[in-house]
Amino acid sequence: MEQETIVAIATPPGRGGIGVVRISGPAARSIAEPMLHLRAPMEAGRARFGDLLDEDGSKLDEVVTTYFAAPHSYTSDDVVEIAAHGSPVVLEMILRRAIDAGARLARPGEFTERAFLSGRLDLTQAEAVRDLIEAQTLHQARVAAQQLGGALAERVRPVKDALVKLIAALEAGIDFAEDDVDVMPQQAILDTLKEVRAPLAELAASYARGHLVREGVTMAIVGRPNAGKSSLFNRLVERERAIVTAAAGTTRDLVTERVSLGGIPVELVDTAGIRESSDEAESIGIRKTREAMADADLVLLVLDATQTINDEERAWMEELRQREAVVVWNKIDVAATAGEGIEVSALTGEGIGDLRDLLLAKLKTGAVTSETAMLTNLRQQQAVQQAIDGLDAAITAAGAGIPHEMVLLDIYGALRGLDELTGATTADDVLNLIFSSFCIGK
Ligand code: GDP
Repeated sequence: MEQETIVAIATPPGRGGIGVVRISGPAARSIAEPMLHLRAPMEAGRARFGDLLDEDGSKLDEVVTTYFAAPHSYTSDDVVEIAAHGSPVVLEMILRRAIDAGARLARPGEFTERAFLSGRLDLTQAEAVRDLIEAQTLHQARVAAQQLGGALAERVRPVKDALVKLIAALEAGIDFAEDDVDVMPQQAILDTLKEVRAPLAELAASYARGHLVREGVTMAIVGRPNAGKSSLFNRLVERERAIVTAAAGTTRDLVTERVSLGGIPVELVDTAGIRESSDEAESIGIRKTREAMADADLVLLVLDATQTINDEERAWMEELRQREAVVVWNKIDVAATAGEGIEVSALTGEGIGDLRDLLLAKLKTGAVTSETAMLTNLRQQQAVQQAIDGLDAAITAAGAGIPHEMVLLDIYGALRGLDELTGATTADDVLNLIFSSFCIGK
Protein backbone atom coordinates (compact mmCIF):
# COMPACT_ATOMS: atom_id res chain seq x y z
CA MET A 1 0.00 0.00 0.00
CA GLU A 2 1.34 3.39 -0.91
CA GLN A 3 1.99 5.65 2.01
CA GLU A 4 -0.61 8.29 2.75
CA THR A 5 0.16 11.93 2.17
CA ILE A 6 -0.36 14.03 5.28
CA VAL A 7 -0.91 17.74 5.72
CA ALA A 8 -0.94 20.23 8.61
CA ILE A 9 -0.50 23.88 9.36
CA ALA A 10 3.00 23.92 10.82
CA THR A 11 2.97 27.41 12.31
CA PRO A 12 1.17 28.21 15.58
CA PRO A 13 -2.51 29.16 15.46
CA GLY A 14 -3.28 32.83 15.05
CA ARG A 15 -2.21 35.61 12.75
CA GLY A 16 1.37 36.32 11.80
CA GLY A 17 3.63 37.54 9.05
CA ILE A 18 4.00 34.07 7.61
CA GLY A 19 2.07 30.84 8.01
CA VAL A 20 3.32 27.51 6.71
CA VAL A 21 1.39 24.47 5.54
CA ARG A 22 3.43 21.33 5.32
CA ILE A 23 2.54 18.41 3.07
CA SER A 24 4.44 15.14 3.28
CA GLY A 25 4.04 11.96 1.26
CA PRO A 26 4.28 10.65 -2.28
CA ALA A 27 1.44 12.90 -3.49
CA ALA A 28 2.81 16.08 -1.91
CA ARG A 29 3.72 17.70 -5.22
CA SER A 30 0.66 16.62 -7.16
CA ILE A 31 -1.56 17.92 -4.35
CA ALA A 32 0.21 21.26 -4.04
CA GLU A 33 0.83 22.13 -7.66
CA PRO A 34 -2.78 22.57 -8.89
CA MET A 35 -3.52 25.25 -6.29
CA LEU A 36 -0.38 27.21 -7.09
CA HIS A 37 0.80 29.25 -9.98
CA LEU A 38 4.56 29.17 -9.64
CA ARG A 39 6.98 31.39 -11.53
CA ALA A 40 9.16 28.33 -12.23
CA PRO A 41 8.67 24.58 -11.81
CA MET A 42 9.35 23.06 -8.38
CA GLU A 43 12.90 21.91 -7.91
CA ALA A 44 14.28 19.95 -4.97
CA GLY A 45 15.82 22.13 -2.29
CA ARG A 46 14.69 25.35 -4.01
CA ALA A 47 12.22 27.96 -2.89
CA ARG A 48 9.75 29.07 -5.53
CA PHE A 49 7.78 32.26 -5.56
CA GLY A 50 4.22 32.03 -6.84
CA ASP A 51 0.54 32.74 -6.45
CA LEU A 52 -1.94 30.83 -4.41
CA LEU A 53 -5.03 30.39 -6.51
CA ASP A 54 -8.58 30.54 -5.24
CA GLU A 55 -11.02 27.87 -6.34
CA ASP A 56 -12.09 30.00 -9.30
CA GLY A 57 -8.48 30.42 -10.38
CA SER A 58 -8.09 34.00 -9.17
CA LYS A 59 -5.08 34.98 -7.08
CA LEU A 60 -5.64 34.82 -3.34
CA ASP A 61 -2.17 35.26 -1.91
CA GLU A 62 1.48 35.31 -2.83
CA VAL A 63 3.39 32.36 -1.47
CA VAL A 64 6.82 30.82 -1.32
CA THR A 65 6.96 27.07 -1.70
CA THR A 66 9.87 24.82 -0.89
CA TYR A 67 10.11 21.30 -2.22
CA PHE A 68 12.23 18.66 -0.54
CA ALA A 69 12.54 15.50 -2.61
CA ALA A 70 12.53 12.09 -0.91
CA PRO A 71 14.60 10.93 0.85
CA HIS A 72 16.28 14.27 1.57
CA SER A 73 13.52 15.79 3.65
CA TYR A 74 12.50 16.00 7.29
CA THR A 75 10.23 12.97 7.00
CA SER A 76 12.23 11.20 4.25
CA ASP A 77 9.10 11.49 2.04
CA ASP A 78 8.48 14.11 -0.62
CA VAL A 79 7.69 17.29 1.29
CA VAL A 80 6.21 20.56 0.05
CA GLU A 81 6.04 23.53 2.37
CA ILE A 82 3.83 26.41 1.37
CA ALA A 83 4.58 29.68 3.14
CA ALA A 84 1.67 32.04 2.77
CA HIS A 85 0.80 35.16 4.71
CA GLY A 86 -0.11 34.15 8.22
CA SER A 87 -3.84 34.39 7.87
CA PRO A 88 -5.76 31.52 9.46
CA VAL A 89 -8.38 31.82 6.71
CA VAL A 90 -5.84 31.39 3.93
CA LEU A 91 -3.99 28.59 5.71
CA GLU A 92 -7.19 26.71 6.40
CA MET A 93 -8.16 27.07 2.76
CA ILE A 94 -4.86 25.48 1.70
CA LEU A 95 -5.39 22.74 4.27
CA ARG A 96 -8.91 22.00 3.03
CA ARG A 97 -7.86 21.98 -0.61
CA ALA A 98 -5.03 19.56 0.20
CA ILE A 99 -7.47 17.28 2.00
CA ASP A 100 -9.94 17.50 -0.90
CA ALA A 101 -7.09 16.47 -3.17
CA GLY A 102 -6.44 13.33 -1.14
CA ALA A 103 -4.19 14.31 1.75
CA ARG A 104 -5.03 13.37 5.31
CA LEU A 105 -4.79 15.70 8.30
CA ALA A 106 -1.59 14.83 10.17
CA ARG A 107 -1.75 13.69 13.76
CA PRO A 108 0.35 15.59 16.32
CA GLY A 109 4.00 14.65 15.84
CA GLU A 110 3.30 12.59 12.72
CA PHE A 111 5.96 14.32 10.61
CA THR A 112 8.57 13.52 13.25
CA GLU A 113 7.16 10.01 13.63
CA ARG A 114 7.77 9.48 9.93
CA ALA A 115 11.32 10.73 10.33
CA PHE A 116 11.74 8.16 13.08
CA LEU A 117 10.09 5.29 11.23
CA SER A 118 12.20 5.95 8.16
CA GLY A 119 15.31 5.75 10.35
CA ARG A 120 16.34 9.35 9.80
CA LEU A 121 16.03 10.10 13.50
CA ASP A 122 16.38 7.75 16.45
CA LEU A 123 13.93 8.04 19.32
CA THR A 124 16.17 10.22 21.47
CA GLN A 125 16.51 12.61 18.54
CA ALA A 126 12.76 12.66 17.97
CA GLU A 127 12.26 13.48 21.64
CA ALA A 128 14.84 16.23 21.27
CA VAL A 129 12.76 17.84 18.52
CA ARG A 130 9.90 18.19 20.98
CA ASP A 131 12.22 19.40 23.76
CA LEU A 132 13.73 21.99 21.44
CA ILE A 133 10.32 23.34 20.53
CA GLU A 134 9.25 23.43 24.14
CA ALA A 135 12.51 24.86 25.50
CA GLN A 136 12.00 27.84 27.76
CA THR A 137 15.60 28.70 28.36
CA LEU A 138 18.51 28.87 25.95
CA HIS A 139 20.30 26.20 27.95
CA GLN A 140 17.37 23.82 27.51
CA ALA A 141 17.47 24.52 23.80
CA ARG A 142 21.20 23.77 23.68
CA VAL A 143 20.81 20.46 25.47
CA ALA A 144 17.97 19.51 23.12
CA ALA A 145 20.01 20.57 20.10
CA GLN A 146 22.89 18.33 21.16
CA GLN A 147 20.52 15.44 21.60
CA LEU A 148 18.95 16.18 18.24
CA GLY A 149 22.44 16.04 16.79
CA GLY A 150 22.67 12.47 18.05
CA ALA A 151 24.84 13.11 21.12
CA LEU A 152 23.04 10.52 23.21
CA ALA A 153 23.10 7.82 20.56
CA GLU A 154 26.80 8.51 19.98
CA ARG A 155 27.56 7.99 23.63
CA VAL A 156 25.78 4.66 23.63
CA ARG A 157 27.12 3.33 20.33
CA PRO A 158 30.56 2.17 21.58
CA VAL A 159 28.84 0.31 24.43
CA LYS A 160 26.53 -1.39 21.99
CA ASP A 161 29.40 -2.32 19.67
CA ALA A 162 31.35 -3.82 22.57
CA LEU A 163 28.34 -5.86 23.70
CA VAL A 164 27.71 -7.18 20.21
CA LYS A 165 31.34 -8.21 19.95
CA LEU A 166 31.18 -9.94 23.30
CA ILE A 167 27.99 -11.73 22.32
CA ALA A 168 29.62 -12.93 19.09
CA ALA A 169 32.62 -14.28 20.99
CA LEU A 170 30.45 -16.05 23.57
CA GLU A 171 28.09 -17.51 20.98
CA ALA A 172 31.10 -18.83 19.05
CA GLY A 173 32.47 -20.35 22.23
CA ILE A 174 29.18 -22.16 22.81
CA ASP A 175 28.91 -23.39 19.21
CA PHE A 176 32.39 -24.78 19.19
CA ALA A 177 32.57 -25.96 22.76
CA GLU A 178 32.99 -29.59 21.81
CA ASP A 179 35.66 -28.72 19.26
CA ASP A 180 37.94 -27.45 21.96
CA VAL A 181 37.93 -23.91 20.60
CA ASP A 182 39.43 -21.41 23.01
CA VAL A 183 36.52 -20.09 25.01
CA MET A 184 36.83 -16.60 26.31
CA PRO A 185 38.48 -16.60 29.74
CA GLN A 186 36.16 -15.63 32.58
CA GLN A 187 38.28 -12.64 33.54
CA ALA A 188 38.15 -11.22 30.00
CA ILE A 189 34.34 -11.45 30.01
CA LEU A 190 34.15 -9.72 33.37
CA ASP A 191 36.56 -7.01 32.27
CA THR A 192 34.54 -6.25 29.16
CA LEU A 193 31.27 -6.15 31.08
CA LYS A 194 32.69 -3.79 33.68
CA GLU A 195 34.25 -1.63 31.01
CA VAL A 196 30.95 -1.04 29.27
CA ARG A 197 29.07 -0.57 32.52
CA ALA A 198 31.06 2.51 33.54
CA PRO A 199 29.89 4.87 30.78
CA LEU A 200 26.31 3.68 31.21
CA ALA A 201 26.43 4.37 34.93
CA GLU A 202 27.71 7.86 34.12
CA LEU A 203 24.88 8.35 31.70
CA ALA A 204 22.32 7.16 34.24
CA ALA A 205 23.72 9.64 36.74
CA SER A 206 23.20 12.43 34.23
CA TYR A 207 19.45 11.97 34.51
CA ALA A 208 19.20 14.03 37.69
CA ARG A 209 20.75 17.00 35.87
CA GLY A 210 19.02 16.34 32.56
CA HIS A 211 15.69 16.11 34.31
CA LEU A 212 16.40 19.38 36.08
CA VAL A 213 17.19 21.10 32.80
CA ARG A 214 14.11 19.75 31.10
CA GLU A 215 11.54 20.04 33.86
CA GLY A 216 12.99 22.83 35.93
CA VAL A 217 12.33 23.27 39.63
CA THR A 218 9.79 24.99 41.82
CA MET A 219 11.07 27.44 44.37
CA ALA A 220 8.80 28.95 47.02
CA ILE A 221 9.48 32.24 48.76
CA VAL A 222 8.06 32.26 52.26
CA GLY A 223 8.27 34.53 55.27
CA ARG A 224 6.23 36.74 57.56
CA PRO A 225 4.21 39.59 56.08
CA ASN A 226 6.32 42.61 55.13
CA ALA A 227 9.60 40.69 55.26
CA GLY A 228 10.08 41.66 51.63
CA LYS A 229 9.06 38.49 49.80
CA SER A 230 7.38 40.27 46.94
CA SER A 231 10.26 42.69 46.59
CA LEU A 232 12.74 39.82 46.51
CA PHE A 233 10.55 37.94 44.07
CA ASN A 234 10.55 40.96 41.78
CA ARG A 235 14.31 41.25 42.10
CA LEU A 236 14.73 37.65 41.07
CA VAL A 237 12.31 37.87 38.15
CA GLU A 238 13.51 41.38 37.38
CA ARG A 239 10.03 42.59 36.70
CA GLU A 240 7.38 44.36 38.68
CA ARG A 241 5.15 41.34 38.88
CA ALA A 242 4.04 40.88 42.47
CA ILE A 243 2.31 43.79 44.17
CA VAL A 244 4.52 45.44 46.77
CA THR A 245 2.91 47.49 49.48
CA ALA A 246 3.90 48.69 52.93
CA ALA A 247 0.83 47.12 54.59
CA ALA A 248 1.34 43.70 56.12
CA GLY A 249 -0.32 40.71 54.51
CA THR A 250 -1.10 42.06 51.06
CA THR A 251 0.24 39.19 49.01
CA ARG A 252 -2.72 36.94 49.59
CA ASP A 253 -2.54 34.82 46.56
CA LEU A 254 0.24 32.85 45.00
CA VAL A 255 2.08 34.63 42.25
CA THR A 256 4.22 32.45 40.04
CA GLU A 257 6.73 33.35 37.43
CA ARG A 258 9.18 31.37 35.32
CA VAL A 259 12.73 32.58 35.55
CA SER A 260 15.93 31.18 34.19
CA LEU A 261 18.60 30.57 36.77
CA GLY A 262 21.79 29.56 35.04
CA GLY A 263 19.75 27.99 32.26
CA ILE A 264 17.53 26.05 34.65
CA PRO A 265 13.88 27.00 34.41
CA VAL A 266 12.69 27.92 37.86
CA GLU A 267 9.08 28.36 38.76
CA LEU A 268 9.19 30.98 41.43
CA VAL A 269 6.23 31.06 43.78
CA ASP A 270 5.63 34.11 45.94
CA THR A 271 3.44 33.20 48.88
CA ALA A 272 1.28 35.02 51.33
CA GLY A 273 2.59 35.57 54.84
CA ILE A 274 3.00 32.49 56.96
CA ARG A 275 1.58 34.32 59.98
CA GLU A 276 -1.51 32.71 61.48
CA SER A 277 -4.50 34.91 60.93
CA SER A 278 -8.16 35.09 61.73
CA ASP A 279 -8.86 36.98 58.56
CA GLU A 280 -10.43 34.47 56.21
CA ALA A 281 -8.73 35.50 52.99
CA GLU A 282 -5.40 35.50 54.69
CA SER A 283 -6.03 32.06 56.16
CA ILE A 284 -6.56 30.78 52.66
CA GLY A 285 -3.28 32.43 51.71
CA ILE A 286 -1.56 30.72 54.61
CA ARG A 287 -2.92 27.36 53.58
CA LYS A 288 -1.74 27.97 50.04
CA THR A 289 1.67 28.85 51.42
CA ARG A 290 1.84 25.51 53.17
CA GLU A 291 0.89 23.77 49.94
CA ALA A 292 3.42 25.74 47.93
CA MET A 293 6.11 24.83 50.45
CA ALA A 294 5.18 21.18 50.27
CA ASP A 295 5.38 21.24 46.47
CA ALA A 296 8.57 23.25 46.22
CA ASP A 297 11.92 21.70 45.41
CA LEU A 298 13.60 24.56 47.18
CA VAL A 299 12.31 27.01 49.81
CA LEU A 300 13.53 30.53 50.31
CA LEU A 301 12.75 31.78 53.81
CA VAL A 302 12.85 35.56 53.90
CA LEU A 303 13.53 37.18 57.28
CA ASP A 304 13.37 40.88 58.03
CA ALA A 305 16.77 41.95 59.33
CA THR A 306 15.26 44.99 60.99
CA GLN A 307 13.11 42.79 63.22
CA THR A 308 14.00 40.16 65.77
CA ILE A 309 12.84 36.77 64.64
CA ASN A 310 9.72 35.47 66.31
CA ASP A 311 8.80 31.99 67.52
CA GLU A 312 7.00 31.22 64.35
CA GLU A 313 10.02 32.02 62.23
CA ARG A 314 12.21 30.00 64.53
CA ALA A 315 9.85 27.07 64.04
CA TRP A 316 10.01 27.48 60.28
CA MET A 317 13.80 27.55 60.34
CA GLU A 318 13.75 24.36 62.34
CA GLU A 319 11.37 22.73 59.89
CA LEU A 320 13.39 23.84 56.87
CA ARG A 321 16.52 22.22 58.24
CA GLN A 322 15.09 18.94 57.01
CA ARG A 323 14.96 20.05 53.40
CA GLU A 324 16.50 22.16 50.64
CA ALA A 325 16.14 25.70 51.90
CA VAL A 326 17.94 29.02 51.92
CA VAL A 327 17.53 31.54 54.74
CA VAL A 328 17.66 35.09 53.43
CA TRP A 329 18.02 38.14 55.65
CA ASN A 330 16.45 41.02 53.81
CA LYS A 331 16.64 44.80 54.32
CA ILE A 332 20.33 44.84 55.23
CA ASP A 333 20.41 48.36 53.76
CA VAL A 334 18.71 49.55 56.96
CA ALA A 335 19.78 46.86 59.43
CA ALA A 336 23.23 46.56 60.93
CA THR A 337 23.30 42.89 61.75
CA ALA A 338 21.63 39.75 60.64
CA GLY A 339 21.86 36.11 61.60
CA GLU A 340 22.90 32.89 60.00
CA GLY A 341 22.11 32.91 56.28
CA ILE A 342 22.63 35.12 53.30
CA GLU A 343 22.19 38.91 53.57
CA VAL A 344 20.47 40.90 50.85
CA SER A 345 18.56 44.04 50.17
CA ALA A 346 15.70 43.57 47.78
CA LEU A 347 15.44 47.34 47.69
CA THR A 348 18.99 48.17 46.60
CA GLY A 349 19.88 44.86 44.96
CA GLU A 350 22.77 44.29 47.34
CA GLY A 351 23.63 40.60 47.76
CA ILE A 352 21.20 39.49 45.06
CA GLY A 353 24.05 38.24 42.86
CA ASP A 354 25.36 36.12 45.74
CA LEU A 355 21.87 34.82 46.37
CA ARG A 356 21.56 33.77 42.74
CA ASP A 357 24.93 31.99 42.96
CA LEU A 358 23.90 30.21 46.12
CA LEU A 359 20.60 29.10 44.61
CA LEU A 360 22.41 27.87 41.55
CA ALA A 361 24.79 25.87 43.71
CA LYS A 362 21.79 24.41 45.54
CA LEU A 363 20.37 23.33 42.21
CA LYS A 364 23.65 21.49 41.63
CA THR A 365 23.98 22.67 38.10
CA GLY A 366 27.69 23.26 38.13
CA ALA A 367 28.38 20.44 35.70
CA VAL A 368 25.47 20.96 33.38
CA THR A 369 26.81 23.54 30.98
CA SER A 370 29.74 21.54 29.69
CA GLU A 371 27.90 18.25 29.38
CA THR A 372 27.16 17.11 25.86
CA ALA A 373 24.81 14.21 26.37
CA MET A 374 22.45 13.50 29.18
CA LEU A 375 19.25 11.66 29.83
CA THR A 376 16.42 14.14 29.92
CA ASN A 377 13.35 12.02 30.48
CA LEU A 378 12.23 9.06 32.53
CA ARG A 379 11.80 6.80 29.50
CA GLN A 380 15.46 7.25 28.61
CA GLN A 381 16.53 6.77 32.20
CA GLN A 382 14.59 3.51 32.49
CA ALA A 383 16.04 2.18 29.25
CA VAL A 384 19.59 2.83 30.44
CA GLN A 385 18.77 1.36 33.84
CA GLN A 386 17.50 -1.79 32.11
CA ALA A 387 20.85 -2.03 30.32
CA ILE A 388 22.74 -1.57 33.58
CA ASP A 389 20.60 -4.18 35.35
CA GLY A 390 21.32 -6.62 32.52
CA LEU A 391 25.03 -5.98 32.82
CA ASP A 392 24.95 -6.39 36.60
CA ALA A 393 23.18 -9.71 36.25
CA ALA A 394 25.71 -10.77 33.61
CA ILE A 395 28.62 -9.72 35.83
CA THR A 396 27.22 -11.73 38.74
CA ALA A 397 26.58 -14.75 36.53
CA ALA A 398 29.98 -14.64 34.83
CA GLY A 399 31.70 -14.15 38.22
CA ALA A 400 29.95 -17.24 39.58
CA GLY A 401 31.12 -19.31 36.65
CA ILE A 402 27.59 -19.94 35.42
CA PRO A 403 27.50 -21.34 31.83
CA HIS A 404 27.89 -18.82 29.06
CA GLU A 405 24.39 -19.51 27.72
CA MET A 406 22.99 -17.96 30.88
CA VAL A 407 25.41 -15.04 30.87
CA LEU A 408 24.43 -14.38 27.28
CA LEU A 409 20.76 -14.02 28.22
CA ASP A 410 21.64 -11.20 30.60
CA ILE A 411 23.83 -9.50 28.01
CA TYR A 412 20.99 -9.68 25.49
CA GLY A 413 18.82 -8.06 28.17
CA ALA A 414 21.33 -5.21 28.47
CA LEU A 415 21.40 -4.79 24.71
CA ARG A 416 17.60 -4.59 24.64
CA GLY A 417 17.75 -1.70 27.10
CA LEU A 418 20.02 0.20 24.72
CA ASP A 419 17.75 -0.58 21.77
CA GLU A 420 14.86 0.68 23.85
CA LEU A 421 16.71 3.95 24.38
CA THR A 422 17.16 4.64 20.69
CA GLY A 423 13.74 3.24 19.83
CA ALA A 424 14.87 0.18 17.91
CA THR A 425 12.60 -2.11 19.95
CA THR A 426 10.14 0.30 21.48
CA ALA A 427 6.53 -0.90 21.55
CA ASP A 428 3.99 0.85 19.34
CA ASP A 429 1.85 2.11 22.20
CA VAL A 430 4.88 3.74 23.79
CA LEU A 431 5.75 5.34 20.47
CA ASN A 432 2.21 6.61 20.09
CA LEU A 433 2.38 8.13 23.53
CA ILE A 434 5.62 9.91 22.71
CA PHE A 435 4.57 11.33 19.36
CA SER A 436 1.14 12.38 20.54
CA SER A 437 2.82 14.80 22.93
CA PHE A 438 4.10 16.80 19.96
CA CYS A 439 2.34 19.75 18.42
CA ILE A 440 0.47 19.41 15.14
CA GLY A 441 2.59 20.09 12.11
CA LYS A 442 5.81 18.80 13.67
P1 GDP B 1 6.06 40.88 51.65
O1 GDP B 1 4.83 41.18 52.42
O2 GDP B 1 6.95 39.94 52.40
O3 GDP B 1 5.81 40.42 50.25
O4 GDP B 1 6.90 42.24 51.58
P2 GDP B 1 6.97 43.33 50.44
O5 GDP B 1 7.88 42.89 49.37
O6 GDP B 1 5.61 43.75 50.07
O7 GDP B 1 7.73 44.49 51.20
C1 GDP B 1 7.22 45.08 52.37
C2 GDP B 1 7.83 46.45 52.58
O8 GDP B 1 9.23 46.33 52.84
C3 GDP B 1 7.71 47.36 51.39
O9 GDP B 1 7.44 48.66 51.84
C4 GDP B 1 9.06 47.28 50.73
O10 GDP B 1 9.38 48.45 50.01
C5 GDP B 1 9.97 47.11 51.91
N1 GDP B 1 11.21 46.40 51.58
C6 GDP B 1 11.32 45.23 50.95
N2 GDP B 1 12.62 44.88 50.81
C7 GDP B 1 13.34 45.86 51.37
C8 GDP B 1 14.75 46.08 51.57
O11 GDP B 1 15.62 45.30 51.18
N3 GDP B 1 15.10 47.21 52.23
C9 GDP B 1 14.19 48.11 52.69
N4 GDP B 1 14.64 49.17 53.31
N5 GDP B 1 12.87 47.93 52.52
C10 GDP B 1 12.44 46.83 51.88
